[in-house]
Amino acid sequence: MASYKTVNPATGELLKEFPTATSAEVESALAASYEAYRSWRLSPVGTRSAVLSRVAEIYQERKDELAKIIGTEMGKPFRQAQGEIDIVSSIYRYYATEGPGFLADEELSVSGGTAVVRSAPVGSLLGIMPWNFPYYQVARFAAPNLMLGNTIILKHAPNCPQAALAMEQVFADASLPEGAYINIFATNDQVADIIADPRNQGVSLTGSERAGSAVAEIAGRHLKKCVLELGGSDAFILLDTDDLAKTAKLAAAGRMGNAGQACNSPKRFIVREDLYEGFVASLTEQVAKVTPGDPLDPSTRFGPLSSREAADRLMEQIQDAIDKGATVHVGGKAVDGPGAYVEPTVITGVTPEMRAYSEELFGPAAVVYKVSDEDEAVELANSSPYGLGGAVWSQDVDKARAVADRLDTGMVWINGLAGSQADLPFGGVKRSGIGRELGKYGMAEFVNKKLIRQE
Ligand code: NAP
Repeated sequence: MASYKTVNPATGELLKEFPTATSAEVESALAASYEAYRSWRLSPVGTRSAVLSRVAEIYQERKDELAKIIGTEMGKPFRQAQGEIDIVSSIYRYYATEGPGFLADEELSVSGGTAVVRSAPVGSLLGIMPWNFPYYQVARFAAPNLMLGNTIILKHAPNCPQAALAMEQVFADASLPEGAYINIFATNDQVADIIADPRNQGVSLTGSERAGSAVAEIAGRHLKKCVLELGGSDAFILLDTDDLAKTAKLAAAGRMGNAGQACNSPKRFIVREDLYEGFVASLTEQVAKVTPGDPLDPSTRFGPLSSREAADRLMEQIQDAIDKGATVHVGGKAVDGPGAYVEPTVITGVTPEMRAYSEELFGPAAVVYKVSDEDEAVELANSSPYGLGGAVWSQDVDKARAVADRLDTGMVWINGLAGSQADLPFGGVKRSGIGRELGKYGMAEFVNKKLIRQE
């Protein structure tokens, strides 16, 4: 059973606990969300847009306060937390501005009369979110769906309850009608009850494969649509470069941001053999410079993992690789002390029988592989069960595009680090999930494309 509490991962200190919801609270959330849907769906588009614009502003007004909450709950360094809040504001602003256009009727050309496809909402939805970008994950789901006229019940990760409550407060302060966004500290059994309830019309989950498969199974049983944004083990394919040191610096920054806990951070570095030795040396040098610090100190660039359990899980994967013969170039150990810190790590010599080969390493560990050519690079990249994103680096852009075409992923960056922005679709294939968030695609998941035909 989920237990909602704030434990500072930098110190291990338990700061606050919250009771899980009662059955009566679950029933009341379902009733209120459904009731709010009946009026929110009919509200003028301009009203919905104005609420989202206000949400975007409030995030800016409360930036430092909100940044401190996630620094304390999941260890995100203060500056990175401020950056997360900036992108959150941009997402609410984007749907406030572009949403009305996405909702415009589509007129079909028919013989006789008219036919229009209207983008109507579907109802009350459940969101299940992880802790790694506590505000951003919610924004990707909430902004397009509130703009559509859907309402939301939100079950957040158990280790960021204060962030979950702070978000609910932002919506209330932006004059979102009562019931249109409800935070609930639900257990997994209660989540199953919410999905089964006829008042719920769908579920969106961002999290691990394990959670995605459990929730999709329940959704399938009850014929509810689900969107799944799951794990990734993105490849960073380096074919050639005129500045190896700079590429390695970017690689280190991409891998170590958020202490390596990003679904789309580069996790497998696949490097042409002529560059391999130099790249490993440069990456190791860069990673060795990354020093752990207190997430609330604005000068800190690298914090703890989100919890002791997360650090232990990563250490088991690293140790498994070491035991089976992998080479550690830097790091490879947990940092002594009460915090959930793991040393920034670079590993080579990873082979298919090691967990690190096929599992997602959700923390500060980079694995580097050597390949002889593009074909081998593509084959290795696609051998992962995941298919979230990836990057291809080459001065020959045509060659990089050709490799990008062959990757079985939902996103590919050419000569750039994978990122996320409000107007670009985000999502994966294979075991990385189903569906898309952000951009116009984010409004195309929980929508009723309703035909209105007039003879
Ligand atoms: P997690 O353990 O799967 O938890 C994610 C959420 O799912 C939590 O709220 C969790 O709540 C809930 N959950 C888990 N099992 C459930 C079940 N059986 N029924 C209902 N809810 C359930 O994931 P995490 O460790 O927090 O997040 C890390 C994972 O998320 C990584 O794999 C990462 O790659 C992935 N991720 C993907 C994206 C993307 O966009 N593709 C973005 C960010 C993160 P409880 O703990 O209460 O069960």
